[in-house]
Amino acid sequence: MRWTNYARGGSARNAEQGSAGVPPAVARAPRPRSVGLTASTLILLSTLILSGAAPEKHFTVYSVAANYSLSLVQREGRDYVGLLEVLEPLGKVRSKSDGARWRLRYNNVEGDFEVGKSRARIQGLDTELGGRFLVENKRGLVPVSALSSILPRFLGGPVTLHEDSGRLFIGSVATHFTASLATDNSSRLVFNFTGPVNPTVATEPGKLRMTFSREPVVAPASSTLTFGSKAIQSASYSESNGTAVVTVNSTIPVIASFSNDGRTVTISPSSAAAAAAQNGTPAAAGTPAPSEPPAAANNAGPQVFRRYFAVIDASHGGEDHGETLSASLLEKDVTVALARSLRQELESRGITTLVLRDSDANLSLDQRAIFANADHAAIYVALHAASNGHGVRVYTALLPFGDDDRGPFRSWTLAQHGSLPLSRSTASAVAAELQKRQIPVRTLGASLRPLNNLTGAAIAVEVAPQGSELSQLTAPDYQQLITSAVATAIAATHDQLGAAP
Ligand SMILES: [Zn+2]
Repeated sequence: MRWTNYARGGSARNAEQGSAGVPPAVARAPRPRSVGLTASTLILLSTLILSGAAPEKHFTVYSVAANYSLSLVQREGRDYVGLLEVLEPLGKVRSKSDGARWRLRYNNVEGDFEVGKSRARIQGLDTELGGRFLVENKRGLVPVSALSSILPRFLGGPVTLHEDSGRLFIGSVATHFTASLATDNSSRLVFNFTGPVNPTVATEPGKLRMTFSREPVVAPASSTLTFGSKAIQSASYSESNGTAVVTVNSTIPVIASFSNDGRTVTISPSSAAAAAAQNGTPAAAGTPAPSEPPAAANNAGPQVFRRYFAVIDASHGGEDHGETLSASLLEKDVTVALARSLRQELESRGITTLVLRDSDANLSLDQRAIFANADHAAIYVALHAASNGHGVRVYTALLPFGDDDRGPFRSWTLAQHGSLPLSRSTASAVAAELQKRQIPVRTLGASLRPLNNLTGAAIAVEVAPQGSELSQLTAPDYQQLITSAVATAIAATHDQLGAAP
């Protein structure tokens, strides 16, 4: 994997482990970092995924390093979460299970937990957990409510826990917003956010709903906002199950359009949008407001010539070995094998597929994005392999904050902006297929190039062994188990992907 860090803070991964997979010879700015899983001690998440048929409860963590979603389990009449899983994307973490004792080390901070006890010692300090500590399959579980006392000790800084809605904010990462009617009497409602947002937009008669699953959007001063307009009467904010939702109540059909690099969302009557569309200016959800020049992503126009529906990128190659998985196994070789397997699975489902790197070639990240964009591929899949963690991580882009460009074209680092909702729904579909095959999986947003530079739907799939046997990475059965799940998910979302501009 290679990571690009756009955000300040956080802790870089330790170099001596070499698990970040960044060869020292390769020096591309900015500084590479990893947000991936550490620790050979990571316990299988499969128990979590398989336990119980109750609807899964989600817990989302927002930080400058990564935004990620975890599953909760219900124990002792309350929500529990794996502590290692919460800390993993943030720094170097390992755990040790020894009888009733369970110890966790995060960077240089030690935590000492005991099964059945509702107190723990973290950095030598007594810490109240508010419920009994549990260990399942060597996985240490703590009540969600305990995170607000546990995490500051490990992280050395404040966290804000929204326990009822399953959201945790590490540091000052919250995105705030205001909403007001446009002053030109045009029945437009303008939302201004302090950071870029990419909600999923859904409409039903009288309502437009924006769902923020990865953005740290927080409530305005009042959770219900009323406006002096007959057309757009009010908006309300709510959050639950790891997401925030803003619902706009209107008496006429409305649509949402995005501008100002995702910081402004304008809700306007859809008839005006239809007129704008006839003028050739896109005005659907996820595209810029009519007053703005179309973004690079939309310049292709409706008649796109698409040679390949899917572009598969075997990450690394040539001088860039990726992670040295073992003395005889390099990531760049595993990714080529995975890419070939995925192509076969996709083509057997009738999906035209190009493998970007089918030999040991040097190919820059920019070149990879340019090839995929030029092809107008409906879906780009980067493949990575890793020795750390278990199972599969599915990534979508985490767009940089503070990028302030207003030129006629969207900036290279924000090319993914318009397609991010589709990328995320594809990532979710892939994760669901992997879960069906009982492969531990999780989805993350991360500053992983070149995902940011892709104009169409784009995901990265990082494959780690299920257990501790690295040889599984080269086993055709295991590769196919994963690539068939990815291909099935892409085939299932084929129409949605193909309809995107
Ligand atoms: Zn890699």
